[in-house]
Amino acid sequence: MIEKLLIANRGEIALRIQRACRELGIKTVAVHSDADRDLKHVLLADESVCIGPAPSRDSYLHVPSIISAAEVTDTVAIHPGYGFLSENADFAERVERSGFVFIGPKPDTIRLMGDKVSAIAAMKAAGVPCVPGSDGPLEDNHSQQLIKLARQIGYPVIIKAAGGGGGRGMRVVHSDATLLNAISLTKAEAAAAFGNDMVYMEKYLENPRHVEFQILADHHGNAIHLGERDCSMQRRHQKVVEEAPAPGITEEQRQRIGRRCAEACARIGYRGAGTFEFLYQDGEFYFIEMNTRVQVEHPVTEMITGVDIVKEQILIASGEPLRYCQEDIVLRGHAVECRLNAEHPETFMPSPGPIEEFHAPGGPGIRIDTHIYSGYVVPPYYDSMIGKLIAHGENRATAIVRMNNALRETVIEGINTNIPLQRQIIKDAAFQAGGANIHYLEKKLGL
Ligand code: ADP
Repeated sequence: MIEKLLIANRGEIALRIQRACRELGIKTVAVHSDADRDLKHVLLADESVCIGPAPSRDSYLHVPSIISAAEVTDTVAIHPGYGFLSENADFAERVERSGFVFIGPKPDTIRLMGDKVSAIAAMKAAGVPCVPGSDGPLEDNHSQQLIKLARQIGYPVIIKAAGGGGGRGMRVVHSDATLLNAISLTKAEAAAAFGNDMVYMEKYLENPRHVEFQILADHHGNAIHLGERDCSMQRRHQKVVEEAPAPGITEEQRQRIGRRCAEACARIGYRGAGTFEFLYQDGEFYFIEMNTRVQVEHPVTEMITGVDIVKEQILIASGEPLRYCQEDIVLRGHAVECRLNAEHPETFMPSPGPIEEFHAPGGPGIRIDTHIYSGYVVPPYYDSMIGKLIAHGENRATAIVRMNNALRETVIEGINTNIPLQRQIIKDAAFQAGGANIHYLEKKLGL
């Protein structure tokens, strides 16, 4: 059993992990940068260690400091949260080699799924539906074959970096004329940004929705899915609003795709929580990538399934068999999540600084995951997300009404937040109808 766990993250997810540890009777170690001494989970932790100066590369991304902090505190396990080192296979390996439990999949699995070319190959082999595309990486000296391949797939196509992430390293191509140049440019960019110039080609889907499946798998070959989420409300490939279940997805589709994902997990020896991301268009699912960590939007799934995903991650890492079988997972009602960012609602400029007043919303079905409090100062060094507001109801309409009320009740003074934008989205007719595609929000905002 894990007696003490180090949280290698900050902000709302660090607090979320700490809450799960408290429920499990596990002591927590908080690690923080110089700029984060006043983070809520640091103040509440059993122990805390300062691991370096404010910039992430010197603290939250600095592996030796995190390992040293684990050693001096006699930590048993390390939870990476999301972002930072959460999908870094070398970090996971270092954690395990140093004798700690990594809360996540095996390093080799992170490596397999972190390279999109090998991830797609593994998923195709497991029968998960993928976007039509090249079988493996593109060779840029085979121009005739490349043109032939693009015509076979059918324009428009998209050139993507195998090591890409965060919506970068992609280029859409509409005709033969620009294909070869686009491939060279994407390769050069990928080499500079990700240190890996491997690129591949996919059919570009023009109006898809983003639908993703949550899975849990243990060390004993058991794997289940917790249904899907719709995260189509995006700006610059960043999710803004998420919900579960996805509007219009039938129980047949849910079980068919969900079970495929769970079977794929069992096949690759996956363990822990993970997400299969799909583009969904004209009734078909197309796998694009897997996230081998807990996601920002995990609460909407928790609200409709009653499963505590972070607690399950920890129990799985301790070697326990899954506590649920597929038949235990019953979806109840609907949940919506709005990300709260410290940013200007129209210009999206980050807005760090002191929070003078904070009043949290409440009432039936409302959950707020945030580390902010009155007097807390939002530092300028990190991601602008300061929390998440989640509303659950017996159906989608109720969840939306509750979200609208909760956004009205929330008071955050002293900094700019995106609450006005979130209110606009929640009241938007197309959002309320459900099923808008991934381009909808940017079009609505005139971007
Ligand atoms: P990242 O790891 O950078 O997030 P993804 O492969 O998940 O990269 O793609 C990010 C986004 O790019 C998707 O959510 C989608 O909006 C767009 N995208 C990726 N592949 C395609 C495709 N084949 N057709 C249309 N859009 C795509």
